[in-house]
Amino acid sequence: MSGKHHHGPGGHRQGADDAPPPPTGARIAEGVLELDTLLGGWERVTAGYLIEGDAPVLVETGSQSSVPSLLAHLDRLGLGPDDLAGVVVTHIHLDHAGGVGDVARAFPGATVYVHPKGARHLVDPTRLVDSAARVYGPLLDSLYGRLDPTPSERIHVLEDGEEIRVSANRFLTAVDSPGHAKHHLGLHDNWSGTMFVGDAVGVKLPDGGVLRPSTPPPDFDLDLALQSLGKFAARRPTGLALAHYGLLADPLDVLDEADGTLRRWASVAEGAFRDGADIAAALSATFESDLDGVPEEHREKLEVMNGVHSNAAGLRRWLVGRPPAGGAVTPDS
Ligand SMILES: [Zn+2]
Repeated sequence: MSGKHHHGPGGHRQGADDAPPPPTGARIAEGVLELDTLLGGWERVTAGYLIEGDAPVLVETGSQSSVPSLLAHLDRLGLGPDDLAGVVVTHIHLDHAGGVGDVARAFPGATVYVHPKGARHLVDPTRLVDSAARVYGPLLDSLYGRLDPTPSERIHVLEDGEEIRVSANRFLTAVDSPGHAKHHLGLHDNWSGTMFVGDAVGVKLPDGGVLRPSTPPPDFDLDLALQSLGKFAARRPTGLALAHYGLLADPLDVLDEADGTLRRWASVAEGAFRDGADIAAALSATFESDLDGVPEEHREKLEVMNGVHSNAAGLRRWLVGRPPAGGAVTPDS
């Protein structure tokens, strides 16, 4: 990285502080601001989105370690403690929801929206944090942080199709979208047409090359993931806002691509699994060339966010838990 960095979109600069402020939110659609929550200090890896209206709603807090950057964004955008009406997380993995407890405390009037299968973990994060500690190891504290509890009376469980009102004519519709995780929601903004897809479509870092599926343990399920892509497509969004990272403007093409890449990764994993070979090695051998030309520093971000080993572990768990061949019939409905 170069010395004086104000690479971000927008041009707000604050005084000559030692630490540069995070980039100011970029407007990616009408009334939608992208907030770089700077996981690990990296730019363009984790995004939150602020949906503007008389009842503004934040989509994703990012990890607990991202809370200072997030609060600085919201402060700079003029949101006082009473001004944020809602916080919604696409799912409860810590890089999306780790900041929820802190943000709920900072904005005492905000309702916290979450998938029915995620709610109890926001109230009592003990098990979620324990399992994250097993997955992340030392990165839990050095990179992500943890998750503070949210009082249950602050939480609103979102059923499939339920709407969050942002203004008189603007609302976000919850789209139950399991696959990446069983507690995953997309949020469809009727006003701009943008669909906030969390990790359900995969990961595509602006600095990191191609779209890759995100298939971590313990929940990954191929059939559910493919069905969720179909649900997104059926709503004809005008854009897809990825948590990692940013807006993709050709939603139907991207959903098609995501469907194809998911099937290819699953097929390579299944082949290795049947042969008793190492799934991660097989995935690396097949897909490593996708990253040709991507500089090492950016590969590192991708490896931390959506590494082959995590994807291989999720695919293995899915393969082990699946009904035997012939039993895995996907209903058409
Ligand atoms: Zn994620």
